[in-house]
Amino acid sequence: MPTEGQLNLEMFYPKTIKIISNNIKESTVKLNMKSITSHAVCPLCHQISSHYHSTYHRTIQDLPLLGYNVELDITAYRYYCENSECGQKVFAEELEGFTGTYRRKTERLEQLILSIAMNTSCEGCSRICHEMGIRVSGDSVIRLLTTTYEGNEHQCGCFIGIDDFAYKKGQTYGTVICDGDSHNPVEILDGRDGTSFKQWLKKHQFVRTITRDRASAYAKVISEVLPEAIQIADRFHLYQNLMKAVQDALARELPNKIRIANQINDVQNDSDDVNLINKCSKKK
Ligand SMILES: [Zn+2]
Repeated sequence: MPTEGQLNLEMFYPKTIKIISNNIKESTVKLNMKSITSHAVCPLCHQISSHYHSTYHRTIQDLPLLGYNVELDITAYRYYCENSECGQKVFAEELEGFTGTYRRKTERLEQLILSIAMNTSCEGCSRICHEMGIRVSGDSVIRLLTTTYEGNEHQCGCFIGIDDFAYKKGQTYGTVICDGDSHNPVEILDGRDGTSFKQWLKKHQFVRTITRDRASAYAKVISEVLPEAIQIADRFHLYQNLMKAVQDALARELPNKIRIANQINDVQNDSDDVNLINKCSKKK
């Protein structure tokens, strides 16, 4: 990544790609680019080949430029594999890790979309991207999240947070476990009765501190599997407990109906209101 000097768009691309021309049409900046590689590595046998087979075109979306969508029209090479024992006779070149063979977006654009999605929602991410000049639908964001994170073994430290969530409110629930330091989700489990959490906790006995909600299911599992672990009621649920206690106290102490009098004379003529005033005065 360049840090100083005159702006030259080629600074932002691998040295093996040349910008041939550029044009702007409506809301899109299009860069016509050409690979200038002289060799490539076979993805199957990993042997270097310099034997050209043909060229092909790829259209890839890149990071937006001042609100304009940026589209790269790249002419790249296919190579023959020169290893006679390799099953891959012809292969399309990888552009120095700039983008995968089948990708339609650059890696850096995908990272930006993932970052926005993780902090908003898939549909919210799509709307924000649209404002920035990135074309991506909510469904595409879901697919990107799925292909990026599905099957990954997520690591967590000894500090975790746990809570339940609804797949469908009133019907199906799940349990989400987050790393307490990074705040990233590390596991999604079925159900919220503690059964799946118990199995997970048995495999992660290095956990020492757990923030949880006020439900007894998780607390019971933690006490059984890791009795030494510190359990912390998280701030959201402490606040929820406090608000419920205040509501219960108000419901207990106040009458169902309170008349707000416009003038003191009205109040004096209403025995219920007089009783209420007396009641309040006594409390003071
Ligand atoms: Zn090969």
